[in-house]
Amino acid sequence: MKITEIFKKHKRTFSFEFFPPKNYQSTLELGINLGQLLKLSPSFVSVTYGAGGSTQDLSFDLVDYIQNKLGMTSMAHYTCVNATREKVENDFRYLHEHNIRNLMLLRGDVPKGLSDFSAAPGDLKHATDLIAIAKKTGLFCIGAAGYPEVHRESPDAETDMKWLYNKVALGAEFIVTQMFFDNAVYFQFIEKARAAGINTRIIPGIIPITNFKQIKKFAEIGGASIPASIQDKLETYRDNPDKTYQAGVDIAIAQCIELLEKGAPGIHFYTLNKSSATVDIFSSLPVGLTW
Ligand code: FAD
Repeated sequence: MKITEIFKKHKRTFSFEFFPPKNYQSTLELGINLGQLLKLSPSFVSVTYGAGGSTQDLSFDLVDYIQNKLGMTSMAHYTCVNATREKVENDFRYLHEHNIRNLMLLRGDVPKGLSDFSAAPGDLKHATDLIAIAKKTGLFCIGAAGYPEVHRESPDAETDMKWLYNKVALGAEFIVTQMFFDNAVYFQFIEKARAAGINTRIIPGIIPITNFKQIKKFAEIGGASIPASIQDKLETYRDNPDKTYQAGVDIAIAQCIELLEKGAPGIHFYTLNKSSATVDIFSSLPVGLTW
């Protein structure tokens, strides 16, 4: 099913993002965590592509498994890394043949060892290139990424917003944001996007802070700032993983409730292939704020 069909029925969506497992142990863990998370009946599930060096074949295998063996509406992420037009067209055909109807189209991160993406292999350099190709097929519902704190390579917020507008004009039907920890940046971003003429759903991407060191690193890579109040709280518990976990979950619950109360169209959870935090957060949301 296309995610736009789900939008027609539900005011909010709750989606979970997974990445392909890297070894036998993480495959087993993913199986268990997927089982726990799917009990929550998410609106859809997404699978990252090539992120953190994961193999692209495994991404396709995982999204195929979730869509066709588990019967969940799935979204395949896809990036420009190593992408030629011919490869993209073949891959899109393959995904469509495997019942995948939703694509999250991205540029991808600058490959390790290169200073910028223009030197990366492949002849497509921006998410807009992929969106144009996918749109032309007429086969997919297309999602794209947005950056409430501005993409780290962008010279300024206006330029970044202009490109976001272009993604939508070319065919992106909804946006999922980069992680953020201060809801004010999300609401300001929505205001600017609406002023720029972007009227699609902009779904906030939320990552629970259960391992402060790890999330700090992700936030740095993704250009997301962590407010001092949150940093101070988590620093206090730096030697106590249980308290860090509980504090991280409580922070995310408060963040999600405020987002939903103030009109966010659902939540996209960056699960990091773990279930407990997302289960704890999702099950703490008041019923009136879910579907
Ligand atoms: P683009 O939209 O191409 O933007 C990159 C930069 O170029 C920005 O500064 C933008 O302002 C500018 N720009 C945009 N379009 C143009 C244009 N046509 N001409 C000139 N400049 C332009 N990475 C992975 O490797 N795999 C994943 O599965 C993955 N999933 C993600 C999911 C989400 C929801 C998010 C938010 C990010 C994800 N990423 C993933 C990370 C993403 O690939 C990086 O953030 C990357 O640096 C930018 O991707 P993009 O699609 O936003 O790029």
